[in-house]
Amino acid sequence: MRHRLIVPAAAAAALTLAIPASAAEPAPGAPGVGDPYYPSYGNGGYDVSHYDLRLKYQPKTDRLDGTATLLATTTQELSRFNLDFALDVSEVRVNGKKAHFDTSGEHELEITPAQSLGKGERITVVVRYSGTPSEVEVGGFTGWHRTKDGGVAANEPESAWWWFPSNDHPTDKATYDVSVAVPDGTQAISNGTLQSESSSNGWTRTSWRSDKPQATYLATLAVGRFDVTEDTTGNGIPVITAYSKDLGAVDGAARASLDRTAEVTDWLEGVFGPYPFNSVGGYVPNVDAGFALETQTRPFYGKRAFDKGSNVSVVVHELAHQWYGDSVSLSRWKDIWVNEGFAAYSQWLWSEHEGEGTAQELADHTYDSRPADDPFWKVKPGDPGPENQFHDAVYDRGALALQALRNEIGDKDFFAILKGWPAEHEGGDATVADFVRYAEGVSGKPLAELFDTWLYTAGKPDRAALGGSTATTRAATTEPASWDSIQAAKHAAHGH
Ligand SMILES: [Zn+2]
Repeated sequence: MRHRLIVPAAAAAALTLAIPASAAEPAPGAPGVGDPYYPSYGNGGYDVSHYDLRLKYQPKTDRLDGTATLLATTTQELSRFNLDFALDVSEVRVNGKKAHFDTSGEHELEITPAQSLGKGERITVVVRYSGTPSEVEVGGFTGWHRTKDGGVAANEPESAWWWFPSNDHPTDKATYDVSVAVPDGTQAISNGTLQSESSSNGWTRTSWRSDKPQATYLATLAVGRFDVTEDTTGNGIPVITAYSKDLGAVDGAARASLDRTAEVTDWLEGVFGPYPFNSVGGYVPNVDAGFALETQTRPFYGKRAFDKGSNVSVVVHELAHQWYGDSVSLSRWKDIWVNEGFAAYSQWLWSEHEGEGTAQELADHTYDSRPADDPFWKVKPGDPGPENQFHDAVYDRGALALQALRNEIGDKDFFAILKGWPAEHEGGDATVADFVRYAEGVSGKPLAELFDTWLYTAGKPDRAALGGSTATTRAATTEPASWDSIQAAKHAAHGH
């Protein structure tokens, strides 16, 4: 990466005269991207294209030392700009020169370069830092999970703050190189493909590469004692799966679930189209958490997801997100349905595939099991509010919306949409409104009323709005065989 040539002083003076008086003065970049749910998340004034993270982590003390090199392009003239970060910073350089920085704002690193930056300028930002991420709380919590043998960064919608400085919003995706040194006998797991592993002086350094755009909250790091297994999908995509060596009683159930990652990926390609990345897998650290997260190419599974036995449904959910949520990101956090509605619906399709209840049976049962006065129906999946972003309704009512769509437009158009949407927006981001327009375009039907009913109206919709089998012909509420495993997976699939 080269920097824009610095204009010599004389030429710069001439240039200044040529610029109209109305030209913008360098100004501070905004401390947030303007997301209504999380106004301070992400930043304005630049766009990151690549993160290079060179880290050293000591499990005994939970001490993380790092140097982050960010390649970015400015989108306005900048006198200063922010990154989102919570650990201690010792030095910042912009284009090689030391920059002033201020970390007094909560999860904000404010950087003032030695010289202001032009619009459209390629910049290189180097941040040196260290900290004990499990002890750094922002708003009363940390997204870092310390374990007996290491630590894990996995949280939604914020987890980068505790391990690398970033423009922390899904609308600024970038590629990554993550290189981590850990004591010999310990593994460092991250996203993407394994590039190299080497050992010296008691430390093992492992390097991972994500060469497709990746949102900051989908970057993950896990350090601990892992059993790492390798496989390939039917289309030859490498599968890397890691199991903590301390899973105890859930070890068998975890392996019986994640060992089917290749099979599930092959099946999902039939539903959603070509897998969007160059590597796949997953990991189960020794984190006593009940949630899972679709960290890109390598989902995180809290070990409680396997308390009751194998749970392939949660694997289906997290891998479905690789298309819906990871390759196609949400534009604003209120658009969470474009992630969770589809991941939840994929579990119903898997149930149908496995002969454990059709999507219609699961929709009927979901609808019937919630009385009209259940507060569940008050949450609007299309704009649930930050406090309800991971509410059951986003998942269950979100999936009901898709079953209603399938009944309205028929299987041919419905499955064309499920495949077409990830291709249309591959590597980008989109809103719920974009999806509605896309579905109308493919089906040729007006669908605003259907989505308004299921995504934007509080209250239980009429039974007729769901379509499919009707209350008069259906036998009263038979529970599909997959019901329990889907409930268990759904609860495991909730983020922070
Ligand atoms: Zn999910």
